[in-house]
Amino acid sequence: LLQLYQPLNFFGVVYREIKQSLIDIESMVTLLAVDREVADAPHARPLAAGGAELRFENVEFGYDPRRPILKGVSFTVPAGRTVAIVGPSGAGKSTISRLLFRFYDVNGGRVLIDGQDIRDVTQASLRGAIGIVPQDTVLFNDTVFYNIAYGRPGASPAEVERAARLAHIHDFIMALPDGYQTTVGERGLKLSGGEKQRVAIARTILKDPAILLFDEATSALDTHTEREIQANLREVSRGRTTLVIAHRLSTVIDADEILVLEAGRVIERGCHADLLAARGAYAALWSRQQESSQGPTPLPGVLAPT
Ligand code: ADP
Ligand code: MG
Repeated sequence: LLQLYQPLNFFGVVYREIKQSLIDIESMVTLLAVDREVADAPHARPLAAGGAELRFENVEFGYDPRRPILKGVSFTVPAGRTVAIVGPSGAGKSTISRLLFRFYDVNGGRVLIDGQDIRDVTQASLRGAIGIVPQDTVLFNDTVFYNIAYGRPGASPAEVERAARLAHIHDFIMALPDGYQTTVGERGLKLSGGEKQRVAIARTILKDPAILLFDEATSALDTHTEREIQANLREVSRGRTTLVIAHRLSTVIDADEILVLEAGRVIERGCHADLLAARGAYAALWSRQQESSQGPTPLPGVLAPT
C-alpha cells in the first residue's frame, strides 16, 4: 500500500507547486484529471461562453478561513478587454488567478463568466475556456509539432502551422534541422525564453480560449526578452478577454483598467494616465520603478524596472 501511496503523494506535492506557479497548469490539470479542493456541482452544466465578460463580485477568500487574503474584491473585464492587477508581492494577485481557474472556491461573493457563477459550471468547460500564457514555459521532451498541437489534440498539420505563423514562430521552426519534427525540451533542442513562449502562444492560439490569463513571473528578465514577451502578449490578447497579473508596470500601460491591490483590497483603479495623475499608490510605484530602472533586479515587494 505504501508503494502505491508514494507516487500519489508525490503528484500531490508537484500539483501543489504547479498550482502556485501557474506554469503549464493546463498540462498538469489534464494529466491529473482530479482535484481534491473543488468538485463539479451535481447540477453543473458546461460553461456557455459568449464574448466572455469576466466579473469578480465582492470576492472574499482565505486559504485558511482564519486568515483572509482577499477582502471584497470587485472588478469587471468587459468582453475583449484587458484588465491588469498590480501591487506588492503577497497582495493576493496570483490568488485571483487561482480562483478564476477554480482551484479553490470563494468564501464570499461570486466569480462570474458571462453571468454564470463558475461554481455552477463543469470544471472541464471552465478550464477549456481559459488560456494561460505562461512567461516561463516548460516544453515537453517531444517534437515542436506535439508541443503546439497539445493546445488542441487532433489538430491537423495545417492548423498547427497556421497557429505557428500567427505566433511568429513558423519561420524559426522551418529553419530547425527537422522542422516541426525537431525534438525540443530539456533533452532536445533548447529554445530561448522568447521562443518557448511563442510555442506556448501558438498552443494557446490553437486552443482559441475566450479568456486569457497572464500571470507574470517575479524573476527578472533581460530587457530584450521582456520586450519580446510584451509584444507577444499584446498580439495574442487582441480581441480576447484578458486578465494580466503583473509584477512589472511596463506590462500594464496599455490595459483598459489597472487595479492596484494591496493586502487583499483594491485601493486604486483606472487607466495608466489617470492613475499617474491621481498621484497615489500607483504613481508612487511608477516613480520608484523609474528610479530603479538602472538595475536589472527587482526589489522584493516592489515592481521591477522597465
Ligand atoms: P501575490 O501574487 O500578490 O504575490 P499571492 O496571491 O500569491 O500574492 O499570495 C497572497 C497571500 O496568500 C500571501 O500571503 C501568501 O503567503 C498566501 N498564500 C498563497 N498561496 C497559499 C497557499 N496555498 N496556502 C496558504 N497561503 C497561501
Ligand atoms: Mg504572484
